[in-house]
Amino acid sequence: MRAQSVAVVVERLDAPRDLAVDAAAVIAGTYDGDFVAQTYAAITPSHDHPVWYRIRLAEDWAGRDLPVLSIFDPQGLSVTAYLPPEHVESRHSIYSAGANAGFTRHALVFDLPRALKAAAPVYLKVAPDKAVPRRIEVTQQTDALVRDLGRARLDVLFPAVQVAAVLVMLCFFLALRERMYMYFVGHVVFVVLYELYLFGIGYEYAPFKLLAPLGSRAVWLNAAIAIVLMLEFSRQFLELARFAPRLDALLRFGRWPLAALALVAAVPSLTPDWTIEYALAALLLLSAPLLIVAGLLAWQQGSRRGGFFLCAWIPGLLFVILRALQLFLQWPLPVWLEFAMPAAFAYASLVLAYGLADHTLAIRHERDVAHRLAEHDALTGVLNRRAILARLRAGFLQARESGEPLSLLFLDLDHFKRINDSYGHHVGDQCLRSVVGPINSELRQGDALGRYGGEEFLVVLPGAGAEDAETVAERIRKRIETMPMLVSGQRIGLTLSIGIAAVDAEVMTPNDLIERADVALYRSKSGGRNLVSTHDGAMPLGEAALDR
Ligand code: GH3
Ligand code: MG
Ligand code: MG
Repeated sequence: MRAQSVAVVVERLDAPRDLAVDAAAVIAGTYDGDFVAQTYAAITPSHDHPVWYRIRLAEDWAGRDLPVLSIFDPQGLSVTAYLPPEHVESRHSIYSAGANAGFTRHALVFDLPRALKAAAPVYLKVAPDKAVPRRIEVTQQTDALVRDLGRARLDVLFPAVQVAAVLVMLCFFLALRERMYMYFVGHVVFVVLYELYLFGIGYEYAPFKLLAPLGSRAVWLNAAIAIVLMLEFSRQFLELARFAPRLDALLRFGRWPLAALALVAAVPSLTPDWTIEYALAALLLLSAPLLIVAGLLAWQQGSRRGGFFLCAWIPGLLFVILRALQLFLQWPLPVWLEFAMPAAFAYASLVLAYGLADHTLAIRHERDVAHRLAEHDALTGVLNRRAILARLRAGFLQARESGEPLSLLFLDLDHFKRINDSYGHHVGDQCLRSVVGPINSELRQGDALGRYGGEEFLVVLPGAGAEDAETVAERIRKRIETMPMLVSGQRIGLTLSIGIAAVDAEVMTPNDLIERADVALYRSKSGGRNLVSTHDGAMPLGEAALDR
């Protein structure tokens, strides 16, 4: 990307503020003796008065095509050039429509005459701006164009990545309606706008060029809004109110100076344009380390999002700090830093988009856990009463529709009160927990086990008629009877009684089925316990259940 440049002699006339230097006098050579040579190829504006430069080639121009003079980092610059031989005046800034025709707005570009001699100076009058040196170069026009094309590609690449991240996050926001996503979307939209003005594209096309009268203030206006949204997003994404309440309050307060700055930026010539950039850089120098600390605190306290935040923002925040230092220490802006920031922002958007997707996954996981808790019994882990009754209802409807059999087992632990009384309630609980594994291991996929209440369980057996159900019930009964259940080295004899009912033409509702299984259970109990009984279908519904 580097164009071959020729050596230039740069001389500066730093006239005192009260001396109004007349262009005609400069061109006529009145001040020729007052220009002071510089050792570096850059022009540096003054905050409060115009500065004159005299630029000459070290040798006569011998290039194949036109020489062009490029002035880099043109943000805020307004330069009037007086080009030989006639010293016609031409004023350039990146904010006027049609400026720099044929080039991007990463540099102010002046066409120089083809027959430029070393003896013929170019005079530049540089309007007041931030006192940061801007590199200058004289190259062949084609070389400048080739390099500029590389920049044009990057101008499109970085905002395009951001727009992609925004679209993805917009979908998330529309689906989830969580405000955090909106702050992220808003933040990235304003970063894209900031970049459009920073790269100069915004001053060229409608509707963006509506802000062209603001000049460089348009860049910093969008940047300030982007940062306010970024602070809001960060506070919520990191759950700072929980992890670091005082830092949270500090960042919340930080919105106000930034919002005030955005307001001042929106009013042209309220202050010199360059002051906005300095104020913003100062606020960024203060808030960037705070954001890094916020991410570290969240991360340290085990927040995954803290990790995402740090991964995403550390490069961007470091470049932001460097850029602010460059401004305050008045270093010329290196090309890599000009593009490093947009690249870091694009990278951050992608990582944060991934972080937000991860957050969505965590929400889903929490929802699954809540769902599980709502359906399952806390003590034993099997379905709770509501859930097992729902399964019974669903199975019952399906059995009635398809004509397939369906059976229900009603299980009740024998003399459970005695176990509680002899060994204590916690041993009773342990028994309840330890029977569900063996019961489950006798069931097929599609069968359902649930706790009906106390020490009573229901098992729904879709596809099983009375005989199949008896086989299953007998296996369960035996298994519990032979299950080793030790408490302090002592074996507890744990048994259960089972009642079975199968769907037939007389069973009209799931409740009928429960009642019949309960009747059968009563028979197992009165028959001596540790027994399986099946409802024979003849007994009138309800009667025995009431007796028990
Ligand atoms: P039967 O053989 O007739 O069923 O006798 P039983 O003692 O099991 O009968 P009953 O239904 O009268 O007593 C059930 C006991 O189960 C009463 C209650 O203390 C106990 N129980 C109910 N829920 C729990 C529980 O969650 N944990 C414990 N440890 N005991 C429970
Ligand atoms: Mg009972
Ligand atoms: Mg019991």
